[in-house]
Amino acid sequence: MILSVKNLTVHYGPIQALRGVSLDVAQGEIIALLGANGAGKTSTLNAIMGLIPASGGEIALNGETIGGLPPETIVRRGMTLTPEGRQVFSDLTVEENLLLGAFSKRPRSAFAAAKREEVLTLFPLLRERLTQAAGTLSGGEQQQLAIARSLMSDPAVLMLDEPSLGLAPQIVDRIFELIAELRQRGLTILLVEQNVEQSLEIADRAYVLANGSVVLSGRGADLLQTTGVERTYLGRRG
Ligand code: ATP
Repeated sequence: MILSVKNLTVHYGPIQALRGVSLDVAQGEIIALLGANGAGKTSTLNAIMGLIPASGGEIALNGETIGGLPPETIVRRGMTLTPEGRQVFSDLTVEENLLLGAFSKRPRSAFAAAKREEVLTLFPLLRERLTQAAGTLSGGEQQQLAIARSLMSDPAVLMLDEPSLGLAPQIVDRIFELIAELRQRGLTILLVEQNVEQSLEIADRAYVLANGSVVLSGRGADLLQTTGVERTYLGRRG
């Protein structure tokens, strides 16, 4: 397994947000992490990335423990997170945002220049907007910039927190196409989404969280056939 999480627990003061989450991600897989609001999806990604402390459990990347390491070290080891709400630096240009993503690789190195070219080939619209302030991009463009910035660190594992949130349907389709394209390029992806159907279509496997625990897991295609998944676990009418 490229990423292995065992019995992860997270507390926010007296509130226990994760109650022993275990999940495995194999090289080249797209894994969807689904669940209703407040189920613990963002807490799971943030704890894996070292952005919030875990109160228990084990996290291993490529067989090595990363629990307790700072996020920048985890980025250097080949994993990165595109956070919920995109969080691009609005006042900085598209180019500057991309360069910040390459912090772990020395932004002025030949490697970063080559990565920039690769990323701009994948996101041609960003190339047209390199000098534009990121805050003036549309929501879909900002999401693409956020993913592009993550890719600048040359990750092996990319975690995406609700990349389709708040975007128009055609833009959402484009984001899902991009995720499939990234996998074809060899990335391993852990995808948090509320867009259940599209996520299960694209995912090899999925985990469903409820109240901080994994309540269901299986192949994406099988869960897609399971009636009532949305109604039972995701607080929606299925
Ligand atoms: P959403 O889709 O709404 O982001 P989620 O599945 O990502 O939901 P989390 O954001 O991980 O869920 O939240 C899990 C639980 O932890 C929720 O009950 C939430 O209220 C609580 N929680 C999250 N962040 C904090 C915080 N900073 N302080 C206190 N409680 C928090």
